Amino acid sequence: MKNPYLLLTPGPLSTTASVRETMLKDWCTWDDEYNNLVQDIRKRLVKLATASSLYTAVLMQGSGTFCVEAAIGTLVPRVEGKILIAANGAYGLRMVHMCEAIGINNTVYKVNETESFDTDVIERMLQEDEDITHVAVVHCETTTGILNPIEEVCCIAKRYNKMTIVDAMSSFGGIPMDIEQLQIDLLISSSNKCIQGVPGFGFVIAKTDELEKCKGNARSLSLDLYDQYKTMEKDKGKWRFTSPTHVVRAFYQALLELEEEGGVQGRFKRYRENQHLLVTGMRRLGFNTLLQSKQQSPIITSFLYPTYSFFTFQGFYQSLKKQGFVIYPGKVSQVDTFRIGNIGDVHKQDIERLLEAIHSTVKRKEIQQ
Ligand SMILES: *Cc1c(COP(=O)(O)O)cnc(C)c1O
Repeated sequence: MKNPYLLLTPGPLSTTASVRETMLKDWCTWDDEYNNLVQDIRKRLVKLATASSLYTAVLMQGSGTFCVEAAIGTLVPRVEGKILIAANGAYGLRMVHMCEAIGINNTVYKVNETESFDTDVIERMLQEDEDITHVAVVHCETTTGILNPIEEVCCIAKRYNKMTIVDAMSSFGGIPMDIEQLQIDLLISSSNKCIQGVPGFGFVIAKTDELEKCKGNARSLSLDLYDQYKTMEKDKGKWRFTSPTHVVRAFYQALLELEEEGGVQGRFKRYRENQHLLVTGMRRLGFNTLLQSKQQSPIITSFLYPTYSFFTFQGFYQSLKKQGFVIYPGKVSQVDTFRIGNIGDVHKQDIERLLEAIHSTVKRKEIQQ
């Protein structure tokens, strides 16, 4: 079945028909066929993340946030654990809220949503507070689309012997990286972002020996990443509780299609070219970006509202939806923005058609509600 419109969103996103079609079969969670599929996915995820053999992958039911909470809640020890969170957007701050909710000692380095982190400040915080054991940062902060300098942040954290946690939810699979080289101990992503699967689970790729040390840390039974890991290892691909079987099967297909596209490198190329095409076209139509080009990720772009008095997001959104495109509202606190994502099964012709649709919308002043 064809989708009535293209999702230009940061996930759930437009998937291929071949990914969606794999969900037409039912699976038994006890059966070898299914558990082997899970094991295969775990291996493939590690390979996508690093050439190192020191890492393992664990899948966790729920959306990406559940997995971030499982990771933080399982990694940081109950006694004498403290996490430094660098935040320049809603997803960085969400980690802070999680810590508050489950009672994890934390300290926050908060900067403006359009700014990047100053590693000197992080270094000073680490020097002044020896209680800090973990450092967490978001890679692509989807709030704005800014790409954060995880390499520098992890490097400074490691110089002070801290564990590093990276929320690479919206970048993993779409931006090349080797997490061992980046000195990341644990990375989190989910099924419905750059791997281009459907929503239903998140996953972590973590240093095996670090995960092995986390027994009894978890503040939650269902979000115990250590226990989930142990079960998947012992029972060879079994999840502890009901897993989203159809979603897992679709994810496997999405991984094969990622490979067909030339791996992460190939996908990155498509995303980057489409993002350039989008921004160039939007500028020509009089729209400005929130971020400078050098801060911008190839995942999602924030555009400032144009200055015409007749512009409303609702009018603009509805007009584009009628023409087959669903865009995303802004999430920045200080200025009015909307966002256009280009991850998912979105190609050059789609961006060209989108630009035409925006052009005709602006021209016809359809955005006047
Ligand atoms: C999508 C996303 C999440 C998780 O969001 P969910 O709605 O729980 O899937 C977390 N962090 C970042 C940076 C994201 O883009």
